[in-house]
Amino acid sequence: MNGVGRGPTGRLVLVAAGLLAAVAAPGGEAGAPSVSPSPSGELIHVVAPGESLTRIARRYGVTIGALVSANPSLTPTSRLRVNQPLAIPAPSPVRSSGPAPPRLPFDLVLAIPDFDGQAPRFEWPLNGTVISQFGRRRGGWHRGIDIRADLGTPVFAAAAGIVAASDVEPSYGNVVKIEHSHDFMTIYAHHLQNLVHVGDVVETGQVIGQVGRTGRATAYHLHFEVRYKGAVYDSLYLLPSPPRPTQVAGTEDEPADDE
Ligand SMILES: [Zn+2]
Repeated sequence: MNGVGRGPTGRLVLVAAGLLAAVAAPGGEAGAPSVSPSPSGELIHVVAPGESLTRIARRYGVTIGALVSANPSLTPTSRLRVNQPLAIPAPSPVRSSGPAPPRLPFDLVLAIPDFDGQAPRFEWPLNGTVISQFGRRRGGWHRGIDIRADLGTPVFAAAAGIVAASDVEPSYGNVVKIEHSHDFMTIYAHHLQNLVHVGDVVETGQVIGQVGRTGRATAYHLHFEVRYKGAVYDSLYLLPSPPRPTQVAGTEDEPADDE
């Protein structure tokens, strides 16, 4: 990481002109987007025609969530404008030695989902801070989002449905699984206790459990997943704008659970 350091804001700062040039002109492709450091030293990407958030995130090795967090005017589904400047956050830390990262699980979908209007209108299952995002994490993959809240805080059904499971499992701890219309399912893990039973019909916002840290969890939080036909999707694409700012993925904190 010669020539790259963290500025006071914690974002990536480029100080070596050679590296900057290498980033700015990969392969000399025609119409390559331009990259320049801002006056404060942060890396700024200028959107080129045809570029998407997904493509830009992949190019810099960051998550879409991290890009959105670094650019408050964006949402994960924002349409980008040509010549729009985007702040590029520091890439997720990657170990320089050790085993290669595990292969992406076949049932984990990183792309922005397009359910053609069939997805239920999901609401937040908990009013708290997102402390760990969906996707890549050190040593593996995270199949949901983690939302921190105090022990015993009520957890709400994210949409109307039927309780398919109210169990205790080794990783999830006390877990509730709710089936929704069109083959969607939501999962709520690490409860202090579950407050619904298999077969219960629940409404959006109904209390189904309490925040705890049962199973493989190191802090009080809710692990929340959205599944469609068995595959897991990034909940942040399916929930309304967060009630509080999310923290950037790749935080120095230890993961709050091990799913
Ligand atoms: Zn989790």
